Order: sequence, then structure tokens, then C-alpha cells
Amino acid sequence: MQLHEGKDIDVAVIGAGPAGLSAALYAGRAKLSTLVAEQGVPGGQAATTHWIENYPGFPEGISGPDLMQRMDEQARKFGAEFIYAPVDNITSDNDSCFSVVTAEGEFRARTVIIATGTMPQSLGIPGEDKFRGVGVSYCATCDGPFFREKEVVVVGGGDSAIVEALFLTKFAALVTVVHRRGELRATKVLQDDAFSNPKIRFAWHSVAGEILGEGKVNGVVVKDVRTGNTRVIPADGIFVAIGSRPDTRFAEDMVDTDERGYIITDDRMRTRTPGLLAAGDVRAKSLRQVVTATADGAIAAVEAEKYISESNRAQASNRMS
Ligand code: NAP
Repeated sequence: MQLHEGKDIDVAVIGAGPAGLSAALYAGRAKLSTLVAEQGVPGGQAATTHWIENYPGFPEGISGPDLMQRMDEQARKFGAEFIYAPVDNITSDNDSCFSVVTAEGEFRARTVIIATGTMPQSLGIPGEDKFRGVGVSYCATCDGPFFREKEVVVVGGGDSAIVEALFLTKFAALVTVVHRRGELRATKVLQDDAFSNPKIRFAWHSVAGEILGEGKVNGVVVKDVRTGNTRVIPADGIFVAIGSRPDTRFAEDMVDTDERGYIITDDRMRTRTPGLLAAGDVRAKSLRQVVTATADGAIAAVEAEKYISESNRAQASNRMS
């Protein structure tokens, strides 16, 4: 089925997180027809973040859902349209247009901005799939309130794990952070907050080996990587926060990626395919934050505008010659 009445749109944005919404805002303001395809809830991972303290302009901080709602409204205000469907494939036509195939149908776009972010990494241990969504979670903001006065485990030692652990202390009686090393990767300010929180404990040099339970989760087996000894930490819920991975399967023939699968671009967000740009966490980069994602989105939209103008000029001069 042809979407968008079969018309070519100027900018297709894949993903409605901070990078995608910022790209849509800039493209809309440049009077480019803009269609955002989102497979889940708008706002991306930022919308599942309880509180964001480091997005400039909000000295008291702002809730992730609230910030993303504002970005969504701002993009719509300048004309961006949205469809809610996963993108299955992108191909490049001979006439320098892209075909974007979604689960709901297909549309054509002169430029595409991939802003699909990342998906949470799984532990890959016994019990994880069995209890996924019923005791095993990848989002404390979404599932934390189910664990009032319960004991929970957070696996990981980065910013996500510590943000999740701190958020969970609002509900849980005890939060044990299981980390494979003896020091955290998380930012110092988060570490200080976690170390001074009486509800947070640490299982250092430890890896989760199995999630236990009968009908519901009741504990996790952890192994001390120095001694090889195992023990069970009693827990009603396990929150996995061991990083994320990008999903770029729908465009893998058209982009270069680094060894971890992130899309390689230049500093103008250009991939190796002309007209195909990437922005935000899906891109190989040194800092993945909301503020860097929104900056990427803006740069990508401006680049899309330039690409379209240059194509128009080239087509006009071809017609004249
Ligand atoms: P991350 O920084 O890659 O950290 C992943 C953590 O999980 C690391 O501590 C890592 O251990 C551990 N880990 C990885 N694989 C593991 C495995 N198989 N088993 C056990 N542990 C494992 O990922 P993230 O915390 O999701 O953060 C991703 C990006 O988002 C970062 O750039 C981060 O700064 C950003 N972020 C920022 C905020 C904020 O508030 N500013 C909040 C969330 C995320 P090692 O340390 O030993 O490698």
C-alpha cells in the first residue's frame, strides 16, 4: 500500500526520539515535507527516563516524558506528520529517491534520516526470557512502581544502571546493583548519589548467571568473577541496564557501521549513501545524551535541506542542457 497519497516527501525521519524530533522540527521549519515513522512510543528511550537533569534550560530538571512531549509538539507545530509503524527496509531508487517500506505500507522520500537510537541489551542468561515483562525489566520508569517495598536487583554499572537504581529507591525496600567490576562506569555525580543512598547496596565483581523463580521471580544467581563462588540474591524484580545496541538491519546495505553496529557518518551526519543521514544514539559517536542527539538531528535536517536544494539545481541544469 502506498502511504502519504503516493507523493514523494522531502524528509523521512525514522524514529521519534530526541534526534528524530529535532530533525523533524528543523526540517519542518525549513518548509520541507516531513514524515516521521515511529515503531513504538514517541520519545524513544528519553521518554522512559524518569528525570533528566542535564538538558540545558531546565535548571530544576525535567521528566523524560514531559521533555519528549514538548519536542513532539514542537515538531508537529512546524508541520511534521507521523506514522506509527516499524520500518522493514529502505532502498534507493534510480531516480535518487528512497523507498521506505513499513509494516503499514510504503512511501517515497528524497532524503532519509535514521534516528532509531538503541535497544536495551539482554543478559542472555537462563530465566531472562521466561520472566521478561513479569519480573525482568529493562525500564525502571515503566515498571518500578510494581515493586513497592520489594527487593530488586539492577545489573550494570553505567549511567543507565545507576539512574535506574536511584529511581527504584522511590519504591523498593532494597536495591542491589550487581556489577562485573569493582568500580562504576557511571558519572561521578550519579555515583555519589548512589553511594550515599541507604537503600542501595552493591555486589561488586559479580555477574548474573540465572534468574530464579516459580511463576514469579524470587532471586538471581550471581557469581563472583574473582573467586568463582556463586550465591543467590533474593529479589522480586531484576532490572537489566547493561547498555544498548543499535538496530540498523533495515538499512545495512546502505551504511557503514563500526564494530558494534553503530552507523558511521561524517560530522554533517552523512552516511556513505547520498541523501541518507543518521543522527543520535544510532550513530558511532563519543557521547550519547539527549543534548547530543538533538544537535545531531538539527545538523541532519540542515544537511537534508542542502542535499535537496543541490539535487533540484542539478535536475534544473540537466533539463536546460
Ligand atoms: P554503558 O555506559 O555502555 O554501560 C553499560 C554497563 O553495563 C557498564 O558498566 C558495563 O560494565 C556493564 N555491562 C555491559 N555488558 C555487560 C554484561 N554482559 N554483563 C554485565 N555487565 C555488563 O551503557 P548505559 O549505562 O546504558 O549508557 C549508555 C549511554 O547513555 C552512555 O553514553 C551514558 O552516558 C548515556 N546515559 C546517560 C544518562 C544520564 O543521565 N546522563 C543516563 C543513561 C544513559 P563495564 O563498566 O565493566 O564495561
